[in-house]
Amino acid sequence: MSLRLRGKNMDISSFSNKAKLQSADNKKFLAKLKNKKFRNMDDVFHDAHDEAFEKIDCLTCANCCKTTSPIFYEKDIERLAKRLRMRPGEFIEKYLKIDADKDYVLTKAPCPFLGTDNYCLVYEDRPTACREYPHTNRKNMYQILDLTYKNPLVCPAVLQIVEEVKKKLDKP
Ligand code: SF4
Ligand code: SF4
Repeated sequence: MSLRLRGKNMDISSFSNKAKLQSADNKKFLAKLKNKKFRNMDDVFHDAHDEAFEKIDCLTCANCCKTTSPIFYEKDIERLAKRLRMRPGEFIEKYLKIDADKDYVLTKAPCPFLGTDNYCLVYEDRPTACREYPHTNRKNMYQILDLTYKNPLVCPAVLQIVEEVKKKLDKP
């Protein structure tokens, strides 16, 4: 999640309906993309990412922080525990559990560090996974297309990004 100046609140339910309707089509497109390995795939994703986040203000949304958990790596736990003046073990006990992939994740959603105004209360020390979300400006996008298939269901920006990428790369 990144921050920009606040606009009016996003209509998450209409976004969510659209994402569900497009889900099967997106899955098919991204599966096809995986096999094609276009040389310009990263550039197309990164341009679409920049364009989407020029229009979308995360502070009107926060759907990622409300509905999913980032992975917490050891460094994230140490940094956040220090900020909250706790021991790492206490932090784990209070906020985290281990998921099916054996990663530390939050025990509940919304994230306990999300403010009522959608600001992150630990923004400077937030987990790396929060900094990188929604992962559409990463290198070697072909390696994370499965993640990119799941994320339009959570993130309105990714829904828009995938639509833009389709326009450029959905070739027979
Ligand atoms: S779901 Fe996407 S658009 Fe919404 S706050 Fe998270 S990163 Fe921003
Ligand atoms: S730590 Fe901050 S950015 Fe990360 S999920 Fe919680 S509220 Fe969102």
